[in-house]
This record gives sequence, structure tokens and C-alpha cells, in this order.
Amino acid sequence: MSIKTVAIIGAGIGGLTAAALLQRNGFQVRVYEQAKRFARIGAGIQQSSNAVRVLRALGLEDALRQLAFRPQSWNNREWDTGAVKYELPLGDTFEQRYGAPYLLMHRGDLHAALFGAVDPDSVQLDKTLEEVSQDGSGVAMRFADGSSAQADVLIGADGVHSVVRETLLGQEAPRFTGRVAYRTTFPASLLDGYAIDDCTKWWGPDRHIVIYYVTPRRDEVYFVTSVPEPEWRTESWSAKGDMDQLRAAFEGFHPQVRRVLEACPEAYKWALYERDPLPRWSEGRIALLGDACHPMVPYMAQGAATAIEDAAMLLRCMQEGGGAETVFTRYEDSRKARASQIQLTSHHNKWMSTRTDPDWVYGYDVWKEPLAPRRAH
Ligand code: FAD
Repeated sequence: MSIKTVAIIGAGIGGLTAAALLQRNGFQVRVYEQAKRFARIGAGIQQSSNAVRVLRALGLEDALRQLAFRPQSWNNREWDTGAVKYELPLGDTFEQRYGAPYLLMHRGDLHAALFGAVDPDSVQLDKTLEEVSQDGSGVAMRFADGSSAQADVLIGADGVHSVVRETLLGQEAPRFTGRVAYRTTFPASLLDGYAIDDCTKWWGPDRHIVIYYVTPRRDEVYFVTSVPEPEWRTESWSAKGDMDQLRAAFEGFHPQVRRVLEACPEAYKWALYERDPLPRWSEGRIALLGDACHPMVPYMAQGAATAIEDAAMLLRCMQEGGGAETVFTRYEDSRKARASQIQLTSHHNKWMSTRTDPDWVYGYDVWKEPLAPRRAH
């Protein structure tokens, strides 16, 4: 029986991309999101060509180019001397090589653009999934407010602590890395004219900080760190870090880093979690997508990008037709090797620390990749 109705749990970047692509291609989709509202909270996001190719298919590329910063390079420098370890040219050089741009933007702007590509009536906020079950005729969901819903199939795009993953694979908390990300955006005017690089990762012995602009006018600056703090395990968009503690953590870093941290009034603090690749991403009528199935540390800036790629591959497999199990195992088989490789490369945190061939990441075109063969069921 072919799939008609699709429930997506989670209106994050992966869930919204999947919803927008599936709706445009005739599937009836409903998205259930636990948050009561969406907010533009201080975070930047890098979107490389492999993700932009999918955003392009949703008609969002032009709007995002207006909102985003297109840097000339991704630089990697020593934490103290500033000596260049490796500089990857971006801008026109990158775009000519990969056929799509490398964009740096506010995460809230990307999320809002994706939300704008989805039928707003199909997204239900304040719906926390508590339980999901399946039988031969479909999936049934039960939410924290006591309501319930049904669909032919369900996509768990519910992030690193995915309830849907737990249903498929049992309880197992993601691994806390012992490290935290301080991150925020703030007005560039607070730098009082002090010039900073377009986009630089400053590599310290046991910590790093990435700093870039998130608007074409260079009027908003973003940074994100990775700092050892084994006592802090909270992931919350409302948890603020102590700026004195943060500045102390980067004492002795290059003046550019210290100037940015001096100028910045406040930052959020986010514990970093990861998992090893999962044994499987789907079971029957239920499949996982994005951080729900391959959460990773953000050291390649590919977490959202791979979630976006997943969404496109899911669409392709659904368009090929077949029952849920056929479609979902094919989706998993077409995606898992790549997502796992990115997950593991991120884990080692060496990406771009020396001369790096990035073709396998940025040259990937999810629309052209051969689909894995159908499994015999
Ligand atoms: P999420 O964004 O986590 O979305 C999951 C959604 O599901 C949420 O809205 C949540 O509220 C909802 N949800 C959860 N449980 C339930 C439930 N039970 N019921 C209903 N709804 C539920 N990636 C990049 O590509 N580029 C970057 O530059 C980049 N920088 C990063 C920097 C940091 C510090 C971090 C931590 C991550 C970064 N990432 C980056 C990774 C990226 O943020 C994630 O990989 C991406 O957000 C995953 O998207 P997702 O939709 O799978 O999950």
C-alpha cells in the first residue's frame, strides 16, 4: 500500500525541511512540535553547498542569500599567534567548484525560512509526543496533553533525545562529551570598528572558538566555542553562561578572540552530546531523521546540513513508492554510510586543522546520488 499521510515529530530544521519537501510533492503531512512558539535566539549556522542544493529545491536560496553572509574563506588559525593552519577559499571559488554557495546565517533566519515553506496549518505547536505504536494499518501517537493522532507513517525528527528513537531502540542516553558550547550573536557595532576575520576557527590545545558574521552587512557577529566543562550537562536555549568564566577560558588567545569576547554582552551555554552510529534508523512504519539518528558534535558544521540531506533522500525514496518498510530501509541504506562518516569525522575534531580535501562533504548532491537497492522483505 502506498504512503499517503505522514506524521513528523519535531519542527526543527530537519523536520521542517522534510515537511516542506513532502508537501510540495503531494504527501499529506502533519508536524507535531513540543515547543509553544519559535524564537530567534542567538545562534549562527553554517550552510554549505550540500545543504543549499536542497534549500534551492524549496525555492529558498535567493531569500537566504539576502539574509546570509557569504565569506571569502573559512580560516583556521593557531589560538595564540594567529598563524594560519589551513584556509579554505569560499566565496566565488567555492561556488564555482561546488555549484552552490557557502552561507553563514542566523539560525533563526534559516528556521523561519523553512517554516515559511511549510503549510502553517499543518504544524501543531505545544504537542509533546509521549508514546508511539504501530500495527499493520498505521501508526498511533499519544501526546502529553492527552490528545492522540494517526498516520500511515511517522518520521522522528525529534532531536538528540528522540522519544521516537527510544521506541525503536530502547532507552540509552546520548553521551555527554564533557564539553560545552558558549554561543551567541551580538551587534558588530559593539566592536567599535575593530576588524575581525570573515570566518575563523581558532584552534587551542584543548578548546576552540569559531567566529563569523551572520549578515551580508557584517552587522551581526556570532561565535561558538567548545570548552571542557564536565560539570555542565544542560542543553537549553535559555541557559546563559557566565561571561567572566568564558573570557577566562580564552585568556592568552589571540587579541581578536579576546576583543570579541570583551565586546559580547552575553552568551548561551549548551552542553555537547553525541552518539555512535545507530544499528538501524527505522522499523516498519517509523523512521528517524537528523539528530534523532545521527547526533554529532558540531565541529564540521554539518549536523543540520545532514538532516537537510536526509529529508531530500527520504522524499526521493518515498517518490519511488512501495510499502513503508521498503521505503524506509532504502532511505536508511542510501544515507547511513555518509551520515556515519560525518558523525565520526566530527567526533575527531581535526576537520580543516591541516590541509583538507572537502570534496566528499561539499560536493555531495543528494538529488543525484544513486539510491540503494530495495531490500527483499
Ligand atoms: P533539532 O533541531 O534538535 O529539532 C528537534 C525538534 O524536535 C525540536 O524542535 C524539539 O523541540 C522537537 N521535539 C523533541 N522532542 C519532541 C517530542 N517528544 N515531541 C514533539 N517535539 C519534540 N549544523 C550545521 O549544519 N551547521 C552549523 O553551523 C551548526 N552549528 C551548530 C552549533 C552548535 C553549538 C550545535 C549544538 C549544533 C550545531 N549544528 C550545526 C547542528 C544542528 O544544530 C543540528 O544538527 C540540527 O539542529 C538537527 O536538526 P534536527 O531537526 O534533527 O533536530
